[in-house]
Amino acid sequence: MIRTRFAPSPTGKLHLGHAYAARVAHDLARENGGRFLVRFEDIDHTRVRDEFYRGILEDLRWLGLEWDGEPWRQLDRLDHYQTALEHLKSLGIVYPCYCTRREIETELANLTHAPHGPEGPLYPGTCRGLKSPPPQREPAWRLNAAKAAAMTGPLTFTDQRHGVITVEPELLGDVILARKDIGTSYHLAVVVDDAAQEISHVTRGEDLLGSTHIHRVLQNLLQLSEPCYLHHSLIMDESGQRLAKRHDALSIETLRERGEDVWNLLPSPSSSE
Ligand code: GLU
Repeated sequence: MIRTRFAPSPTGKLHLGHAYAARVAHDLARENGGRFLVRFEDIDHTRVRDEFYRGILEDLRWLGLEWDGEPWRQLDRLDHYQTALEHLKSLGIVYPCYCTRREIETELANLTHAPHGPEGPLYPGTCRGLKSPPPQREPAWRLNAAKAAAMTGPLTFTDQRHGVITVEPELLGDVILARKDIGTSYHLAVVVDDAAQEISHVTRGEDLLGSTHIHRVLQNLLQLSEPCYLHHSLIMDESGQRLAKRHDALSIETLRERGEDVWNLLPSPSSSE
């Protein structure tokens, strides 16, 4: 059975782009007699607000995108992410990183050939192979992407729009799997939860295509099942910028108050497939 999910972060209001993402997931499930789930990606507890959890569900209901079951909250599931991290530690493919953001920036500025990925500079590997940790600093945990790649061997994933894609484990460098302040990360939590919720089709914006390379590596290392993917196109504003939380005028709440027909403002989801 097809199972999809919409995974908003309750750190702001839903905007048109979210409505589109939610509809892609909703319609794929409903057109196939499947289940559509909601999961709050709220691990960044310093930025979440109660009113956003409530507002997001109200907006979804108003949009006619009814979900199945109780929405999950990642903050309720931190022990599962911890277990996954311990497993990765036992495989020897993660390492503690003590760098501050500023230290990383300084190091990158001093390199003649700073490593680059599709989303900008990559972590230069400062703490990889570190012998003695600095005293009294809590580490973040990073994936040793090269080591992980050697362990998994070649991998692919299938995207309904982009076809079969060969995984490049080092595309985003040694990504953080557990931030020092929250103990997990988007990458780790999303693969654990997609498996736990038995998501068959992960639908999300194509800005996250790069992340899927890492997710396939983690799924393999954690022996989790492999979902199908659909990375849909992003909704842009009139100047060609992608919508963000600052686009308050395009929040679903504002459009609802103005009595707009949201679906008239958006392309049909099938044009994304
Ligand atoms: N929380 C992400 C977003 O709002 C979704 C990530 C995902 O679907 O994997 O864009």
